[in-house]
Amino acid sequence: MSVKRSSGYSLQTRVAQALSYVEPNTQGLVPPTYNSTTYLRDADNQYRSGLVYSRADNPTYRIVESVLADIEEGADALLFSSGMAAAVTVFQALRPGDHVLAPKVMYWALRNWLLTLGTEWGLQIELVDMDDLAAIEKALVAGKTKLVWLETPGNPLWTISDIQAISALAHAAGAKVAVDSTCATPVLSLPISLGADIVMHSATKYLNGHSDVIAGALITAEDNDFWQRIRMVRKQGGAVLSPSDANQLLRGMRTLELRVRQSAQSAQIIAEKLESLAAVKAVLYPGLPSFPGHDIALRQMPGGFGGMLSVRLSNETIAIKVAAATQLWKRATSLGGVESLIEHRASIEGLDSPVPSDLLRLSVGIEDADELFNDLQQAIEAAISASE
Ligand code: PLP
Repeated sequence: MSVKRSSGYSLQTRVAQALSYVEPNTQGLVPPTYNSTTYLRDADNQYRSGLVYSRADNPTYRIVESVLADIEEGADALLFSSGMAAAVTVFQALRPGDHVLAPKVMYWALRNWLLTLGTEWGLQIELVDMDDLAAIEKALVAGKTKLVWLETPGNPLWTISDIQAISALAHAAGAKVAVDSTCATPVLSLPISLGADIVMHSATKYLNGHSDVIAGALITAEDNDFWQRIRMVRKQGGAVLSPSDANQLLRGMRTLELRVRQSAQSAQIIAEKLESLAAVKAVLYPGLPSFPGHDIALRQMPGGFGGMLSVRLSNETIAIKVAAATQLWKRATSLGGVESLIEHRASIEGLDSPVPSDLLRLSVGIEDADELFNDLQQAIEAAISASE
């Protein structure tokens, strides 16, 4: 099935209306959930519907994939059973021996996969500072490096990678570029328009937005051989999403623009206020002029700087006490939901985590920004006075 395009309208309009979706049989505005796992073969032994078995394709997730391809300005999209399944599929579409560049600091579970199972499978993984163009250029081996994996803003230091400059370097060396754009979302940044070949999302986060679906997605700039291998890995490996989760994801996606815009506005307010507190050692947020990647973010994230930020306190004990003293911010892992979350990252990432132990990661939801800041401020004051 080809991707349905509805050009001319803003992303907000396109996603809210799921590309003007109308169900052909009933005129319903909401797609049904097609639960069938299998489809009738024609009497003459053909499959004219194009549908054979739902591990290969299913109309429910095909609708969501069309919306995703459209809003990311790609040629095609695929849904997966999780963000990790989507990401791992890209690496499994490579071949043993292929050289891959990935960020030194990135979503920790994928970093762990690359350094364990990905490496055992034969990938040559090299971790690079993805905000250092000279280091990336040095690490690229023409003809051998097949993929540069970016995550921008990169979890949880929110490092900004220059997608346009890195894509030019990678393509000159014959490598493809894949971007984990989970924390940017198409509302803020469009990696394909900057030269990326593949965009990846943990749709569990902002795309769904309500902390009630685990899902992943890949979007491709071109329907080429690499994309066909990706499609084959999903079909043969079987990491598909259930049709009901796909439908629930679409329901969440309709409000994507409103949620991301609100989270980003609130995150900016909270980051600026946190920066003025003496007890705060550093605020990591691409929207702050003091942030090293701010200038690139201004160009690369025209829609705003996102709802994720991190704060560094004087030490690990204080950081854990601050998280314990919040009322509105919920102590939970994950991000991108309507409710704000706070997390001591080093605790969840374990001993080999490159993340400083005094860091708290904040996922700003859609609650009132002043109430969120006041809650953090009282928690910081409470943690400090309890330690005196
Ligand atoms: N990429 C990023 C940036 C993430 O934050 C996460 C999950 O936290 C993932 C990928 C993995 O997604 P999932 O949990 O849906 O497998």
